[in-house]
Amino acid sequence: YTQAKALIYSKYGEPKDVLRLHKHSISAPHATQVNLRLLTSPMNPADVNQIQGVYPSKPPFRTDLGNAEPAAVGGNEGAFEVLSTGAGVKNLSKGDWVIMKRTGLGTWRTHAQLDESQLIKIENKEGLTPLQVGTVSVNPVTAYRMLRDFCEWDWMRAGEEWMIQNGANSGVGRAAIQLGREWGIKTLNVVRQRKTPEETEALKKELRDLGATVVITEEEMLTGNFRDMVHEFTRQGREPIRLALNCVGGKNATALAKTLAPDSHMVTYGAMSKQPVALPSGLLIFKNLAFDGFWVSKWGDKNPQLKESTIKDVLQLTRSGKFRDIPVDEVKWNWESEGPELAESVQGTLGGYRSGKGVFTF
Ligand code: NDP
Repeated sequence: YTQAKALIYSKYGEPKDVLRLHKHSISAPHATQVNLRLLTSPMNPADVNQIQGVYPSKPPFRTDLGNAEPAAVGGNEGAFEVLSTGAGVKNLSKGDWVIMKRTGLGTWRTHAQLDESQLIKIENKEGLTPLQVGTVSVNPVTAYRMLRDFCEWDWMRAGEEWMIQNGANSGVGRAAIQLGREWGIKTLNVVRQRKTPEETEALKKELRDLGATVVITEEEMLTGNFRDMVHEFTRQGREPIRLALNCVGGKNATALAKTLAPDSHMVTYGAMSKQPVALPSGLLIFKNLAFDGFWVSKWGDKNPQLKESTIKDVLQLTRSGKFRDIPVDEVKWNWESEGPELAESVQGTLGGYRSGKGVFTF
């Protein structure tokens, strides 16, 4: 038996109120079962929405961890190490690193027992860190697919076409910046102003160092002469903005849409401001813009092969130093860690203006 602890919830609510640490034991794996230990698991915004009960996919509440009250384990992605395998396991062995094939399996746990079919093996883990592997399957995949699947870039014009995005300092935003740089797509990036001009400039510089072509603040976009600024960035409009990625909504999203060239797409994948997306009708009528949504969980379930190859691609870029780590706020999860302190770190996830994404490391 392996002793294990999991952060579970039996009712929806704020993480600090409903998450609790549950101790249980895991038996030796049989047949195609695999026993795992946690390396790293991030706290993504969707994880919190899921616990609040406001996210469309809700993991079922179950009792298979020996818990009296039915519960779900929090978290949706992470890197795990194989501890032992059942006799029927074909492609995994002790020491391998794996990630979960689908979301919703619960990753905030020191150990897990899953079926081999639920896992993706990280081939060639050399040159990769647990953080890189544990955060590859949601944010970078989202950025990658949105850049590729909603716009037919004219590859002959590499370096002359633009993408615009808000939430540019998010995990997804940083991935999009770096993929854009790799693929010759210029990026116009919008972030929220920081407390001081120095901090704002530092954030802008950080994103430019990742490969962002231009970084401006939401405040500059909404109050300054944004039209003229865009005109200038895009060489008097000769370089079209052909795609917008929106995770904020509200006025911010409207301003992004107005910069788009005719027949372009805006993909909405988040709603951090909780404001609806409002659109001037002319953008639909005269510019023929298309407004799409993207949800990586659903996409991944429908396209498991493509998801794996997308992950492989990103990890290859990571190995070659072309895809940098997101800033993180590491939460050490030791055997002694208490439920309330772990739950408190989850609580901060939606706070905004954070220096990095919260990640559990075991
Ligand atoms: P991170 O935790 O890395 O970053 C959060 C981002 O949200 C920061 O840029 C932050 O900006 C911004 N933000 C927070 N509060 C607000 C607010 N009130 N108004 C405007 N911006 C705000 O996030 P992720 O990269 O993990 O996720 C980013 C978004 O993408 C989320 O909405 C998430 O749900 C969504 N997402 C959607 C996916 C999909 O498949 N549809 C997949 C992955 C993510 P600041 O630093 O200024 O606070």
